[in-house]
Amino acid sequence: MKPSVLRCSHVTKRYGDFTALEDLSLEVYEGEIFALLGPNGAGKSTLIHCITGVSKQSEGTIEVLGFDTLRDFRTTRRLVGLVPQEINYDPFFTPMENLMINMGLMGVEPDRERAEDLLRTFALEDKRDAYTRTLSGGMKRRLLIAKALVHQPRLLFLDEPTAGVDVELRRELWQEVEDLRAAGTTIVLTTHYIEEAERLADRIGVIHNGELLLVEGRESLLERHDGRSLEDIFVELIRRADGRHAA
Ligand code: ADP
Ligand code: MG
Repeated sequence: MKPSVLRCSHVTKRYGDFTALEDLSLEVYEGEIFALLGPNGAGKSTLIHCITGVSKQSEGTIEVLGFDTLRDFRTTRRLVGLVPQEINYDPFFTPMENLMINMGLMGVEPDRERAEDLLRTFALEDKRDAYTRTLSGGMKRRLLIAKALVHQPRLLFLDEPTAGVDVELRRELWQEVEDLRAAGTTIVLTTHYIEEAERLADRIGVIHNGELLLVEGRESLLERHDGRSLEDIFVELIRRADGRHAA
């Protein structure tokens, strides 16, 4: 088995008396694409936020490459990259400026050459000096990914990268995710599109009401449910969990 890059142990997150994550344990291995699949409100963003330092878990521990996300915050922050669910960028800066500023924010020396490389990789070199607000939706998405990569994170989180994105761009983003993995980045993505998990993931975790219902390799999951689609498996899992809660 490959070395572990992420270890969440008994993570609970509460907002007041609402529990968004409940005793969640999960390990992610080097070089894999892990898809966290779950309906809206399942807790996907909450988990990613706790791992990437946007938020803090109420209980439990999270380690990135052996470093604790609370105790060794400065270290883990540099090891992870986050492409947030909501598009956020500075509309009055250019893509080049956005990348340079983000390097500063991430605590790495601003490096124009690295920024140029990223702009090339994400087909934004023609727009390097345009106002970001004039970019198309697809270009903005690609800029978000480039921004998350400025400090060369070992572990990249993509939070619903293709929500509300057209088919063509979705395929393009899938290719980019596969290229990143081929270049050695470990990837965790969240999605509520079953097709996306089926298409990209080596392993799939299903989350619902803040609980991890299942974690399994895609192949073995499909094999074990001989002939049934991932969608059927998913729907049944959720239904069974809801039944359990209702009982
Ligand atoms: P997902 O990303 O899977 O759609 P989220 O992690 O965003 O789900 O949300 C999980 C649950 O936690 C939802 O019920 C949401 O309303 C709740 N939640 C998220 N953030 C907050 C917050 N800051 N305060 C209170 N409740 C929150
Ligand atoms: Mg979310």
